[in-house]
Amino acid sequence: MAMNPDARFLRVAIPSPLRREFDYLPGTEEDLANLKPGIRMLVPFGNRRLVGILLKVVDSTDVEPKKLKQSIRSLDTEPVITPGIMKMCRWASAYYQHPVGDVLTHAMPALLRNPDKLPLQAVHMLTVTPAGKNSDLSGMKKSPKQREILSQLIQVSQPVDTDELKRLNIKGPPLKALVAKGLLQWTAVERKRTSWQRHSSDLVNESPHTLTSEQAAAVNTIAASIESHTCYLLDGITGSGKTEVYLRVIETVLMQGRQALILVPEIGLTPQTVSRFQRRFNVPLVVLHSALNDQERLNAWVAAREGEAAIIIGTRSAVFTPLRNPGVIVVDEEHDASYKQQEGFRYSARDLSVMRGREESIPVILGSATPSLETIHNADRKRYHELRLTQRTGSASTPDFKLVDIKSRHLDCGFSEPLIRMVRDHLDQGNQVLVFLNRRGFAPTLICHHCGWIANCTRCDARLTVHKLSNSLRCHHCSAYSGIPAQCPACNSPQLMPLGIGTERTESALNRLFPEHRVIRIDRDTTRRKSAMSDIISELDKGNPCILVGTQMLAKGHHFPNVTLVAIMDIDAGLFSADFRAIEKMAQLILQVSGRSGRAEKPGQVVIQTHFADHPLLTTIINKGYRAFAQHTLNERRETRLPPFSFLAVIRAQSTDKTRPAEFLQRVKHIASSLIAIDRRVEIFGPIPSIMEKRAGKFRAQLLLQSSHRRHLGVLLTELTGAIEQLNNTSGVRWSIDVDPLDIF
Ligand code: ADP
Ligand code: ZN
Ligand code: ZN
Repeated sequence: MAMNPDARFLRVAIPSPLRREFDYLPGTEEDLANLKPGIRMLVPFGNRRLVGILLKVVDSTDVEPKKLKQSIRSLDTEPVITPGIMKMCRWASAYYQHPVGDVLTHAMPALLRNPDKLPLQAVHMLTVTPAGKNSDLSGMKKSPKQREILSQLIQVSQPVDTDELKRLNIKGPPLKALVAKGLLQWTAVERKRTSWQRHSSDLVNESPHTLTSEQAAAVNTIAASIESHTCYLLDGITGSGKTEVYLRVIETVLMQGRQALILVPEIGLTPQTVSRFQRRFNVPLVVLHSALNDQERLNAWVAAREGEAAIIIGTRSAVFTPLRNPGVIVVDEEHDASYKQQEGFRYSARDLSVMRGREESIPVILGSATPSLETIHNADRKRYHELRLTQRTGSASTPDFKLVDIKSRHLDCGFSEPLIRMVRDHLDQGNQVLVFLNRRGFAPTLICHHCGWIANCTRCDARLTVHKLSNSLRCHHCSAYSGIPAQCPACNSPQLMPLGIGTERTESALNRLFPEHRVIRIDRDTTRRKSAMSDIISELDKGNPCILVGTQMLAKGHHFPNVTLVAIMDIDAGLFSADFRAIEKMAQLILQVSGRSGRAEKPGQVVIQTHFADHPLLTTIINKGYRAFAQHTLNERRETRLPPFSFLAVIRAQSTDKTRPAEFLQRVKHIASSLIAIDRRVEIFGPIPSIMEKRAGKFRAQLLLQSSHRRHLGVLLTELTGAIEQLNNTSGVRWSIDVDPLDIF
């Protein structure tokens, strides 16, 4: 403890892997009263200088005084991390067991890691330094000009800009001399900007729709509590008009001069959603998407923080966007896996949105046609207020499902004969068809017909995928890439055969089966270009009969009014996966993909090919709908004590050495067990090798921790991560922790 009662220390979060905060002495020129929590500080760290975030000014420290270093300087006058974001980040740091410095760095635009970059355009202001304030004016007899300037500025008692100096007629050598003596100081201060509401009168373009009674009920319920926090689950089947509900609620928010934050899974894939917001409102709107460069991202962030932007649409990380005047947060397709960050700081943007809504006292709307089981559980327990949209809008009807049992049927490149017939019927009637298959490339395996050799990735426990169009073998788990060999490396036979079916192969089969129609493939390989998706959509909007073939990218909220048939090629893998969420994901996928069918006047049909046509879960999904399926699956989760009926965390370890990850995790388990002894309400499973043990040249293992009490697990994890950090001799093992993991393998 430092003993000086007047001492003040700066507690700073530093972007470092250490789970702790760091104390500094203030710089000599620093005016402590002006240091607001959330501003950036430039501080020495080891032999580097780092940009940290001031957490608070404190009057005691546990660090020995002579070990304390002095901060170099503060970088902002206004917080870069606003109080609301700060609260959310500190909560997230504790909950996800991630170092607070890294969380805060994550929360701010990358450009602000540069100490010379200011959030807003800078203006130069002249201030009187503490030395200037305390200087003996009467002692400045020899330089009356300087004395006059100094006393003038002390009287003004706030920083003045160059215009003001001109007005006061302050200039020339006396001014320079005062600056040189350190009595005055130039500082770069950010130019203030104005909120949007001041210069827009006609906010809303009229809606083309009269709300259905269900939509109206949802809008009224949310609008009635717009001044406080409630979390809503808007459960509406695909095409039921959820987006229209968001738009009407946002209208209410905008009328109050407040801002709306909308999270979407992937913007590049859903240009239609963004343009609907743009068309509806005459207000400044910013879109935070992955194609922005750092400066554009900073500009958008500033526009949100300063209140210049009324609507902010973004993906996962947009949950950290500061808002001057927040009004509502919408999380569209809340079940989507992309809301969980899968590396580094493993947070759920959906869950943080709810947290943030509570802190900011604003409503949060979680919308989906296939809500996650966690969210349904929260609604069942009345933590979330549930709103239902059960009807499709206008004349659109819900699609009709058909299971095609493919047991011992002949398949032509995956297509059964009944399916081929249906595709032909729909095309003949002038409609569009969508074929879904969750595997890109030509074929997932290359095998030698002569000796059985298989093309494996040398860096992963995985097979290489054949990409015929680019004549390459690629690993979908690392960046491995090579040409397709002309002959077998093991026996020199030229008989190498692609095995299995990917989107490229399906595309070529469809071209052969339906030569008179256009086939458009949608997967990661065909949508790399920024405008690829918009181009495809405008092609479809022409309404000519054609076939779309693609991966789950097709499932994401698109509106294809001319699609009347959706074919799901193969879902059997989802029925028998080791992943406890596989069934839930499969059900969501079936309903999301099929939601692309029959969205306009034309009725839709959905065909699912399977070897298990009487599987009870499949028939439940099809005959009774998603919520019946969800209830059934929730009951199973309760019986097996899986989330949301228990809480999980996975500690993963990896190393280039095969045995070290498990050895390391064994030590971790030992520590964890000793910590649990006091309070036995957390169980530990493992360590076990990950399902794909080797990936990108690293061997991986994991330890699973489970508890029925969120708090017990949290307390243990905090102690445990602290203890792991103290471990030495970890011989190059890298570890990470994932709280509420999406998958546990
Ligand atoms: P969701 O987001 O639930 O999939 P959307 O909001 O995209 O549904 O609505 C589906 C389609 O129905 C859109 O074309 C939309 O313009 C239209 N729509 C929405 N609300 C209404 C309504 N009340 N009356 C008629 N059409 C509507
Ligand atoms: Zn061979
Ligand atoms: Zn690989």
